[in-house]
Parts: sequence; C-alpha cells; structure tokens
Amino acid sequence: MKPSRILIASVVLVLCVAAVIISVADLDKGDGAASLIIISPGSTEAVLMEEGRRSAADVLSGQGRVPGAGPIYAYTSDQDLIRVQDGASITVRDGVARLSSGQGLEALAWSGGERMTTLMSVASTASTCLSLYHPSNEEPLVRAGVERVVALEIDGLGWEMLKGLADRGILKNITGLGNAGPALTAYPPITNVGTAMALTGRPPAWNGIIEREGHFLREPTFLETAGSAGFTTAHIEGPSRFLNIDLELHVDLNGNGDVDDEIHAMLLEEIENGTDVVLAHYHSVDDAGHEGFALDEGLGNASDFIDRSVGEVVSMLSDTSVPTLLILFSDHGMHASNEGGEHGEYSHEDLFAFTAWRTFGDAAPLDVCALEVEMGERTMKFDLPDLMNMTATVGTYAVRSSTSNGTHVFTGVEVATLLEAAGAGAGWTSLEMSASDGYALSVPGEWAAPGSGLMIAYAVDGRPLVDDGPLRLIVPQTLAGEYNGQFCLKSVSSVEVV
Ligand SMILES: [Zn+2]
Ligand SMILES: [Zn+2]
Repeated sequence: MKPSRILIASVVLVLCVAAVIISVADLDKGDGAASLIIISPGSTEAVLMEEGRRSAADVLSGQGRVPGAGPIYAYTSDQDLIRVQDGASITVRDGVARLSSGQGLEALAWSGGERMTTLMSVASTASTCLSLYHPSNEEPLVRAGVERVVALEIDGLGWEMLKGLADRGILKNITGLGNAGPALTAYPPITNVGTAMALTGRPPAWNGIIEREGHFLREPTFLETAGSAGFTTAHIEGPSRFLNIDLELHVDLNGNGDVDDEIHAMLLEEIENGTDVVLAHYHSVDDAGHEGFALDEGLGNASDFIDRSVGEVVSMLSDTSVPTLLILFSDHGMHASNEGGEHGEYSHEDLFAFTAWRTFGDAAPLDVCALEVEMGERTMKFDLPDLMNMTATVGTYAVRSSTSNGTHVFTGVEVATLLEAAGAGAGWTSLEMSASDGYALSVPGEWAAPGSGLMIAYAVDGRPLVDDGPLRLIVPQTLAGEYNGQFCLKSVSSVEVV
C-alpha cells in the first residue's frame, strides 16, 4: 500500500471507530433500561430499550423493518442463536433484555427483507443431501441423489466483503454460482466458533465451542456423521489444529508464504481420487484482510486466487457424472480497523458470513429450484435447501384425477410453515399458485391453516421429485375432495399471497 493511501485509510478508520464509540456511549441507560444491538446487512446499531415488554417486530420497527420482512435471529448471552418470530416477546427488567425462554438477549439480526440463513445450514444441507438425517426428525427422509459433497470454507470472506469484491469484478466464479447469500455466523465471529457451528449445524451453546480457546466439540461434524455412515471423508486444514477432530494438516511446502496453494492441490487430489465428502479450509483471504483490508491489493490477489480455485473445482465437477453437492461458505466476516481488518464483535461486517451451493451430475437441482412467495410489494425466494431446512412434513396422500389414481408418501414443507418463514403475516384470503409451465390455480386461504396437510412437496417415496417437480403442491383429499389431482399443481414456482 502507498503511504498516502495508508494515511487516508487511517484517518477514515479512526473517524469511523470514534463515531461507533460515541453512538454507543450516547445511550444514556435510564433506570432498568437495557441496550440491545440490532444488526442487518449494512448496519449495526445499539438501541436502548426501556423497561417493559415488547415484541421483536416492535423493537425492529425503529430500524425501519416492516412486520413480516424476513426472518429474525436472536443472539443470546448463553451463546445460542435462535430464530424468533415477529411476535416473540422481549422483556426488559433491571437492565437486562430477555426472551420468553428466560435467555438474556444480546443482539437481534434481521435480513433487511432479503433471504437470509445461518451457517448451521451448511451441515444440515450436506447431511440432508447425503440422506444422513433430517434436522427436524433425525431420520433419512429424502435422497437428493447426492453421493459426494465438496465443501470449501473461505476464511474471513464475509457477505459485505464479498459484495465489495464482486463490485470490483473479482469473485466471478463464486457469484456465478447464482445463489450466494448472507448467512449469520455465531458470536463471537471467530474461526473456531464459526467453523464449529457450520460443521455441526448447532450453535455454540450446543456444540461447545464458545470462545477462541475452545477446542472440544460436543457434537459431530457432518464429515464425522458421513464417516460413520460409511462415506470416505477428508478434512483438509492449514498448519494448525483448532478443533479436536480428524484433520489433514498442511504447511507451506513450497515456501511461497501461503498455505492455500497446498490446500487447493490436496482438494483437487481428493476429488480426483473419488473421496465422498471433502472439506478444504482456505485461509489467505482472512490473512490478507487482517493485513490490509479493503484498500490493500493483497486482499484482491488472495480473493482472486480463491475465485480461480473455485472455478477449477466447478469445471472439474462439471466433467463428472457423480451427483455432487458443492457448498461454499465462510466462517465469519471482518471489519476495517486502524491496523487492517479484524473480527470478533457484534457488527454486521463480522456476523454476516455467506453460503452458496450448486449441484453437479445427476443430483437434484438444488440451485435452480427456487420458490417465490409474493406478498404485495415484497417477494421472498426459497431454494430447495431453504425448504429442506424447515420443519419437514411427511404423509401418505392419494392423488386422484379422472384419469389417474396413485398413493404415495410425499415429503415437503407445510404451506403454513412456508408462509410463516416468509413472514406473510395475517389478513390474506387466498393463495395464487403458479407453475413454471404456466399453469396456475387459486387456493382458499383457510386451506393453509397449520396442520391442514396442504404442502409444497420436494420428494415422493423418498426420492426427489423429478418429472413433477422439483416442487409440487399437494392438496389432501380432506381439503379438495376425492378428485384432488387437479389441485396438485406440478412444478410449482410461485405463491402469491392475496
Ligand atoms: Zn476465520
Ligand atoms: Zn481472522
């Protein structure tokens, strides 16, 4: 970096840091009031909550959130990370904010209306696709046809940084996967804590990795679960063992000052050798970010190396017939400090990591399968992994028309669950369902009552829906009558809430 740029960067950073300190210090805590951190993409704010009880939606309305605008997650003082509903009550007493579970509340995160997930989806998606278990009932429900998982952990590449680099024309292969999006990491946003949550699918409070010194995982990683189910696995790490799991450690063999080239070579070798489940952890973006953050060319070069590596993996997987799930994720993000970049705080730059995935070969098309839920001005998009990560419903349904009659076990998500996840709220009377082939039908709103059996199915008889899918509306005979077939819309692609 040139000296003049360092000077400008330092002045800007000092001003930013000073502004943050002032805004937090300005909160004059009155009797019994509690301060709460509110995080959304692009913003971190500390707010003061008076004593009393309010809903989560009410608390966030001060930050410009309209009710129902996407999911809300709560960071608790016992290091849980919990999805909370709009109506969840937050009680402030004696300077402490609490959820109705009694857990102390440190921060609320919301998506700014966009789709948002957490790093827990990494383990649950990999496991679901390998039919290891389903997070909601721990039984294999769906065989997504995936026989191999290739996971790339890109240390330190937060969602905000990813967007910034993409704007500079870097990361074309990563953004080219088409569905990169923000994913909350755990608090504190540091490598072992974020990695542990991604690999186990459980928050720190459950997996046991709650701080930098924590090494002993209490929950199995998805690689370990896959290993016990008979899959071959490889977990490729850098020079240090920061979790007490089976790792292949790698050092800078060629002495070029970087270990990622060795890690990448090992990943390609494992893919070539046909290892079923592989995870490679790349470190150079985090290293370069700590060194110089956004003003440094080093970060651009490191990101460029990672992106070319992703491109190589994509072209390698494109040439094979093995049904494969590729998952990309980061462990945390990073914010600018006066000495480069750092992470470990309640800030949107640190806490918004990212995930992206794509399938190859003869696997269910996780990436192209998107369901849009339209609610007035607002639309939320769900990919198949998003749906699979919701509470699943399984049922035996007869689907009968004048020309056909079949009974099958369908697996999917209840429309009531989907609408709740989309934040559809109340006050609507019908659902306009459309399919990718142009068919459409209208369903009375009361059919979507919880427990009615109205569902968006993604699997039939334990296999992904191929000809009629990837998603199909299933309307039970209890709602539509004996000839329910005309209502079971194939290849459903959007739901408009009216
Ligand atoms: Zn890290
Ligand atoms: Zn770091």
